[in-house]
Amino acid sequence: MAVTASNTDNMMPATSLIDQCAIVTGATSGIGLGIARALASVGADVVINGLGTAADIQRVVDLLNDSGSGRVVYSDANMTNVEQIEAMIELAVEEFGHLDILVNNAGIQHVAPVQDFPTDQWNAIIAVNLSGCFHTIRCATPHLLANRRGRIINIASTHALVASPFKSAYVAAKHGVAGLTKVVALELADKNITVNAIAPGYVETPLVAGQVADTARARGISADDVVNDVMLSAQPTGRFVQIDELASLVLFLCSDGARSITGAILPVDGGWCAQ
Ligand code: NAD
Repeated sequence: MAVTASNTDNMMPATSLIDQCAIVTGATSGIGLGIARALASVGADVVINGLGTAADIQRVVDLLNDSGSGRVVYSDANMTNVEQIEAMIELAVEEFGHLDILVNNAGIQHVAPVQDFPTDQWNAIIAVNLSGCFHTIRCATPHLLANRRGRIINIASTHALVASPFKSAYVAAKHGVAGLTKVVALELADKNITVNAIAPGYVETPLVAGQVADTARARGISADDVVNDVMLSAQPTGRFVQIDELASLVLFLCSDGARSITGAILPVDGGWCAQ
């Protein structure tokens, strides 16, 4: 695993998040790394988790520590393990004394026709992409309530709003994340805690690179045709969404200016859902 590029140079300036503690799941790569970097750059203390070798993880922690004035701590919680998720939330509160922001970003994908969809892949995708969000929210909410303020941001997908063939588990999990977001937003609406989901279209990350070959196989087309005719043709802008565009929205949702935005599923999809 490489420390992937997460160009945060173009991000909108945000309110300072100094003395705020954020958890970003799945922050060793791709979108999560970009979001963690953005939060660190405006002063937040950040707890990250995610898979990778010890050396890769150390590189990510060093990169994040160099990005801002806050402190960065790594949790080895696997999002399929309830006890480890509970320990990650407790680690954040022990290290920083409070928890202010939870970004549920960890996710996996598998592409196959439903009749061939491996059962273990179904179980893993539901566990990481949906149940993991439930457990982090379940464990973080008492701390956000004690804090009398908070932000929960779930990185869903366009596939929380519309479907594509061959992604039964992913689309089911992401639609579930949208429902979970709305329910928890209602429960916490009068507690100064907002709960939203961001629904990105295609973003060029290791997760997307990994699904090109499977999609080519499932559709019987070439890898280039997957990128141009399946992915980019879905987005009227004709380009991949950039990680800094998602990180900017996270910073805005964390700001006071976004305090009335809750229960929203916010597309960042180059116009995909407008069609
Ligand atoms: P990525 O593969 O680059 O990163 C995924 C992260 O999740 C990594 O840090 C990985 O280690 C972590 N992770 C995976 N399984 C885990 C587990 N069991 N326990 C703990 N951490 C685990 O992927 P990405 O493209 O950056 O995706 C991040 C999120 O954005 C996902 O939820 C994905 O569904 C969503 N998303 C991605 C795209 C896209 O086009 N890339 C589009 C819409 C939504």
